[in-house]
Amino acid sequence: MKIEVLGGAREVGGSCISVQTDDCKIALDYGTKLDEEAPKLPRNFDAVIISHAHLDHSGSLLNLSDNNPVIVGSKITRDVTNELLHDMIKIQNEEGNFQFYDEDAAKISEAWLTRNNIALPGMAIQLQSAGHVAGAKITSIEAENKKIVYTGDFCLHDTEILEGCNPETLPREPDVLISECTYGGKTRPPRKQLINHFYKQVSKTIERKGNILIPTFAFHRTQEMARRIDQAMENGTLPRYNVYTISNLAHRINRYFQENKRLFTQEVQKQEHPFNYRHVKHLNRTRQIREPAIVIATSGFGHAGASLRLLTQWAEDPHNSVILTSGFLPDDSPLKQAKENRTLKDNGETITVQAEIEQIELSGHADQNELIQFINNLKPKKTILVHGELEQAQALQEKISQITDAYIPEKGETINI
Ligand SMILES: [Zn+2]
Repeated sequence: MKIEVLGGAREVGGSCISVQTDDCKIALDYGTKLDEEAPKLPRNFDAVIISHAHLDHSGSLLNLSDNNPVIVGSKITRDVTNELLHDMIKIQNEEGNFQFYDEDAAKISEAWLTRNNIALPGMAIQLQSAGHVAGAKITSIEAENKKIVYTGDFCLHDTEILEGCNPETLPREPDVLISECTYGGKTRPPRKQLINHFYKQVSKTIERKGNILIPTFAFHRTQEMARRIDQAMENGTLPRYNVYTISNLAHRINRYFQENKRLFTQEVQKQEHPFNYRHVKHLNRTRQIREPAIVIATSGFGHAGASLRLLTQWAEDPHNSVILTSGFLPDDSPLKQAKENRTLKDNGETITVQAEIEQIELSGHADQNELIQFINNLKPKKTILVHGELEQAQALQEKISQITDAYIPEKGETINI
């Protein structure tokens, strides 16, 4: 059996791993890197398993549209990926880069098998919940008397709307574990503490009548954040204030949350319309905002859209706050510039950032402790660390070296099992 790391080695982005036996060849994820030309991934797979609907795991799928692919993943992963691919086509076509059309995205959706079990020649594949985001899956493979587990992105701890993954139901002592290690070198305070910190930052800004910008991703993080604030205003943890979400994509994705209620916690399932909010309004444009306000807006890294517009508009006023909930920010992210250099570029002019910028990592990834706990639970013979920058992978490698043979591959490297 050959495992080839085609993308996502020593970096976050472009995840794709090929698993090949004498009888078949599959891809685990088929992602893209946002800041690069679409990677040229091979197309000759018997099946492509998509762990979840983030573009770094699914964003190259359009390249398979004329290839009669077999794609496997959960229903919400299919539906949200479809929205994301349509959005990608729209943006590219607006830029004059007509590579794909809406019918290509439709072909990808039609090729999708929304099953948790699939059999290929000499290979059995099973998917189970990964935590992380709605519909995210961990993949277990049995072939040639070997067991392989691929985590995709995963999370052990429960969040307000989603239960963490349960490692007890995964194969014991697999021959190979292919694990993400986004936070391989980081530990986080308990979630409760982070949530309290979040409420404090919001309350403090509300007291001084400032605006609060919360840049987030359209899928899952927007819905999770909107529900968090909505509930906190309902039960009195936060005072009433204007709260908005601005993201057409997030608004379209909302309906899949309603349709797939059973993916979420008991608490969410008990409610008839858990993602219809009382205190949070959906807006289409920033000029509809009645200030002062809390605004949950895309894009998550502040590269474009309402989050960039509001960041530029609100940065100079020290009454305002920007709350970053992602621990990872790419180097070219305006949010990173604003936080670290306290400056922003706007049409060639430099703005000095006076607003408070607070990073509170409400991440959907396992941190170092969870990664160690997970690996200790499974006791894999070999562990291949992917989806993490080199220093994160190395920090984890050191911690788990007593439990497993941990390896950090390079991009394009083939590992024979
Ligand atoms: Zn992800």
